[in-house]
Amino acid sequence: MSDVVALGQPTVGEEELQAVAEVFASGWLSGAGPSCRAFEEEFTHVAGTQHALATSNCGSALHLGLEVLGVRPGDEVVVGDYTFPATGHSVLWSGGVPVFADVRPDIWSADPAAVEAAITPRTVGILAVDVFGQPADYDELRAIADRHGLWLMEDAACSAGATYRGRPAGSLADVATFSFHGRKGITAGEGGAFTTDRADLAAHARKLHTYGIEPALSREGSADLPVPSFDEAGYNYRLSDISAAIMRVQLRRLPALLAARRRAAAGYAELLGDLPLVTLPVALPDREHPWQSYVLTLDASLDRGAVAVALRARGVQCNFGTYASHLQPVYGGGQQLPVSADLFQRHLAVPMHANLTDDQVERVAATVRDVVTDPAHRR
Ligand SMILES: *Cc1c(COP(=O)(O)O)cnc(C)c1O
Repeated sequence: MSDVVALGQPTVGEEELQAVAEVFASGWLSGAGPSCRAFEEEFTHVAGTQHALATSNCGSALHLGLEVLGVRPGDEVVVGDYTFPATGHSVLWSGGVPVFADVRPDIWSADPAAVEAAITPRTVGILAVDVFGQPADYDELRAIADRHGLWLMEDAACSAGATYRGRPAGSLADVATFSFHGRKGITAGEGGAFTTDRADLAAHARKLHTYGIEPALSREGSADLPVPSFDEAGYNYRLSDISAAIMRVQLRRLPALLAARRRAAAGYAELLGDLPLVTLPVALPDREHPWQSYVLTLDASLDRGAVAVALRARGVQCNFGTYASHLQPVYGGGQQLPVSADLFQRHLAVPMHANLTDDQVERVAATVRDVVTDPAHRR
């Protein structure tokens, strides 16, 4: 039996180690320093925005976004249901109430009609999720937001390098947030970013991400002794300069990493396209899918648990997709969102990362075919 095919894997190496060595030599290891500044400037070109702020993770960027957009206790935010806990949690952190919207059955992001139906007089904004990186329906969502006087936010945690109708993920809403966790397309282990075109939001987020104090780097050039005061209880949501240096290398790698994932996705599509009882993920022609994950929808007649156990026994790692938020006890329940609930039951993520070889893609596809067609794995 050959080696296990990993579900996800970062692509890091000598260049990242060299970049870390340079930060060590510079002496500025903490956050909001020269490496962060350089990374932020470079990341504006990926996100297509005027401003980018490096953050400790995507959850902190989401929280900053909701704070600077002015969410107040009791405010309702309409959130795409099928997502990682950070999305809904961030609304709770800001004192808001997440109201979940059911998702499209093909690309799993918020269904614009469901978003509009969820709006009440207490709604202040829409938080859409680019599920596994593929952008949501931003033209439709923007029209809804404008019609109801709401802001629009993009959880672009998995979306670095994605596009929607020619525009990059990160530039598709008033604020967008990225993750650089080890399971994402580009990574420093942990990390995140906040992007926007609005100078006021960017400045406010920058202040809040460093305890509400003007960052030390902007004070350094002063001839006198500036002493900051603070009028808001900000946070430490900084990315370290060590991580920022790693992220700068990851940005240079991004085109090659995206191409490798596209190649693996194309391989799966070719090798599994005719497989009964499995629906392959859809990449819409008007958007570039960055393939953070490759998620199969199993027919309801298959026993997902048995399929997963059999795949793992044969050296193919797999997992469920992501979460149906409305079913999670922390949000209080009470909503019924059948599409998201169904995906939560039937999704199965199979290996997807930029280090997959053609041989591994073939092996995963052949194993999936065997396991799925084995009658022992039916309900
Ligand atoms: C991974 C992920 C997050 C959380 O990212 P962190 O950097 O771990 O905070 C948020 N939203 C979505 C959609 C994600 O996939």
